[in-house]
Amino acid sequence: MRIDIATLFPDMCEAVLGESIIGRARKNGVITVCCHNIRDYTLDKHRRVDDSPYGGGMGMVMQAEPIYRCYQAVAAEIGTKPHVIYLSPQGKPLRQRRCVELAKQEHLFLLCGHYEGVDERVLEEIVDEEISIGDYVLTGGELAALVLTDSIARLCDGVLASAECFEEESHYNGLLEYPQYTRPEVWKGKAVPEVLLSGHHANIRKWRREQEIERTLKKRPDMLADVQLDKNDKKFLATLIQEQDDN
Ligand code: SAM
Repeated sequence: MRIDIATLFPDMCEAVLGESIIGRARKNGVITVCCHNIRDYTLDKHRRVDDSPYGGGMGMVMQAEPIYRCYQAVAAEIGTKPHVIYLSPQGKPLRQRRCVELAKQEHLFLLCGHYEGVDERVLEEIVDEEISIGDYVLTGGELAALVLTDSIARLCDGVLASAECFEEESHYNGLLEYPQYTRPEVWKGKAVPEVLLSGHHANIRKWRREQEIERTLKKRPDMLADVQLDKNDKKFLATLIQEQDDN
C-alpha cells in the first residue's frame, strides 16, 4: 500500500508519521507514505498557492493548478490513477468499515485543504470521495489525513503483529471492546475479574463477549442497531435490557 499526502505542511505530517508503529512500518518498507508540498508545484514566481475568493468573503482559497500538478506528478510516478480522497468537513463521516475497505486499495492520494478550502473545480476534476473525521471544522486537512492514514495503515498486512490485534478491537465487529487489565492483580483495592485468572479459555471468551455487548449497550447503544448477534448474544442482550427496564 502506498499513501501520498498532498499538503502545504508536509513537516507536520512527517513529524507524526515518522514515529511509533507507522514510523516503523515505513522504515521496514511494509507501507509507503509520501508527503508532498503542494507549494512545490506552483508556477507562480512568488510560490503562491492561494488567492481571494471570487464573489468576495473572508479568507483565501487554495488554487486548482498546484494541486492538479501535484496529483499528476504522483499519478505519473506510480504509473496509474490513485484513489483520491479530499479530507473535508463536508465528506462522509469516517467509519471503521470504510477503513477496512480502503486498506485494500494499492494507492491512495489524500488531499489536505487549508484556509477557506479548495477551488471547487479541481475537486470535481480529481476527487473520488470526500471523508470527514467529524462534524466540526479544523484549520486544515493535515490532522484528518493523519487520522485516516493511521487508521488504514494499521490494518495493512505486516504493520501490526497479526490481524487478531485489530479484529478484536472496538468497532471492527460493530461492538466496543471488552475491558483490559494487566499486573498487578490488585490495584487500589480493585481486583482483576477472577475469570481472567482462571486460565479457562472458553469462560474467558464468553465473559469478554458479554462485556462487549454490555459496554456497547451502556456507552454506544446506537451501534447495536447495526451489529450481527448470534442467538446467545441476543439472549444476553435481552437480559441486560430487561434489567435496565426493571431499574
Ligand atoms: N470552508 C470549508 C467549509 O466550510 O466546508 C472549511 C475549510 S477548513 C477551515 C480548511 C480545511 O480543513 C478543509 O479544506 C479540509 O481539508 C480540512 N478540514 C476541516 N475540517 C475537517 C473535518 N472535519 N474533516 C476532514 N477535514 C477537515
